[in-house]
Amino acid sequence: MSVDCLFCRIIAGEFGTEFVAENDHAVAFRDIHPQAPVHVLVVPKQHVAAFRSRRELDADGMAGMFALIDEVAKREGIDQGGYRVVTNDGPDAGQTVFHLHWHVLGGTPLTGGFA
Ligand code: 5GP
Ligand code: ZN
Repeated sequence: MSVDCLFCRIIAGEFGTEFVAENDHAVAFRDIHPQAPVHVLVVPKQHVAAFRSRRELDADGMAGMFALIDEVAKREGIDQGGYRVVTNDGPDAGQTVFHLHWHVLGGTPLTGGFA
């Protein structure tokens, strides 16, 4: 938990953000500025700054984070048609929140672009 980190504060429940799914290792909530009909962020509960730091997660944390992506896709009804999973690592990729998160995008055919 980092008090300076927006996503740590969301995970701690400070803003009353609704979680669309949660397990022991990660939470999922809707992006405030959706880029697709389904745009959910899957976020490890442990503070890890970015993809490049993912090895700070232990094996259970890593597996739990990816399992939650599966669960979100099923719950949102996009697991059959397909969906995009994106993470931005660093400023040049457009990362704005420095707590690792996966954008899960779908609900319409996604043509072009990466996010
Ligand atoms: P990044 O640009 O770091 O890859 O993604 C950060 C994402 O977090 C953006 O898509 C942005 O819309 C989303 N976001 C930023 N602040 C909040 C917030 O307070 N609540 C929610 N639900 N999403 C947020
Ligand atoms: Zn954090």
